[in-house]
Amino acid sequence: MGIFDPRTSGRAHEEVVFFHDPESGLRAIVAIHSTALGPGLGGTRFFPYEKEEDALRDALRLSEGMSYKNALAGLDLGGGKAVIWGDPVKDKSEALLRAYGRFVQSLHGRYVTACDVGTYVRDMDVVARECDYVTGRSEDHGGAGDSSVLTAFGVFTSMRAAAKHRYGSDDLAGKRVGVSGVGKVGRHLVGHLLEAGAEVLATDINPAARKWAEEHAPSVTWVEDNESLMAQGLHVYAPCALGGVVNERTVGTLKTDIICGAANNQLEDLSAAERLTEADILYCPDYLVNSGGVVQVGDEYYGPFDFARAKRRVSGLYDTALSILDRAESEKVTTVAAADALAEERMDAVGRLQRIRIY
Ligand code: NAD
Repeated sequence: MGIFDPRTSGRAHEEVVFFHDPESGLRAIVAIHSTALGPGLGGTRFFPYEKEEDALRDALRLSEGMSYKNALAGLDLGGGKAVIWGDPVKDKSEALLRAYGRFVQSLHGRYVTACDVGTYVRDMDVVARECDYVTGRSEDHGGAGDSSVLTAFGVFTSMRAAAKHRYGSDDLAGKRVGVSGVGKVGRHLVGHLLEAGAEVLATDINPAARKWAEEHAPSVTWVEDNESLMAQGLHVYAPCALGGVVNERTVGTLKTDIICGAANNQLEDLSAAERLTEADILYCPDYLVNSGGVVQVGDEYYGPFDFARAKRRVSGLYDTALSILDRAESEKVTTVAAADALAEERMDAVGRLQRIRIY
């Protein structure tokens, strides 16, 4: 694993910093992939990695992904990500989070942190006691709160664009949509879909999700598991649970025209994108579709947070998604390649402006 090597995108990381505070037990890595468009923004993942290499690999991979997500979302933000190596249940403490905050502060705003797996708005409030470069905070502290509302709205908006590309109309009425994972985002998405007149099928491993559907969305058809949902014969499959759902094994069994969901890293690897194109399944890149959450924390960071403004911005995903899907078709490339190209063009064209010196 070469930190100085350009990774998948051809852009190498700008800065990777290791922070260690033995007294509080903090072991953190901040990876700043690109500041071409602004400070590198991305959440802090608190996770019990098996090895130090795994923590570093995750920080590098996730920070690169954030450069692309933030670029496509049209934000004045670059890509960064942090990992804290430890068990969030056992190791998280006020001292550890504040030590982390002081280290992030020492980067003088080149990295802006937020929540991710294992960290929550209340943790960001603690980090912010030592650090100015924090977003995704609680409403009590001027934060925007739960990001799943705008994330779901972004998925729904992108789905309409995908329908427009595929069927010539963005009307989802009567379309069969399978939602896998009816958690925070999935529930809001189901609401949008039912309102739009779609026929919704859903699955979740948590019995509480099924109970929620029975009580709040009785017209939803419950399907036993994700594999059965994939085989249902859908217009749209919306993965809203875990990553890696599209892989060598599942791509052959997937019966859908479109994939458009909130889950991060839906494709196990890049070859899955090729396989989907061959199978004539229109894949809406996850890092585009689920960017409603980062639009929210970005709006909060440059604040004060304005929900209506952030929602208008998320509505812009419609045009971005449509242009990416059209471009992939006309250039005969995968939708991932088309999305990456658009993000890179913006990073090049706007990033270059920093060379115009303002004294
Ligand atoms: P969540 O934890 O609230 O919901 C996930 C749901 O998926 C849970 O109900 C869980 O029981 C279910 N699930 C887990 N494994 C499953 C399986 N094998 N089959 C079916 N269901 C399964 O999480 P969320 O906030 O709704 O996020 C959903 C996805 O979207 C995650 O991948 C997350 O990383 C991504 N995402 C979320 C946001 C956000 O704003 N919340 C933003 C960007 C991306």
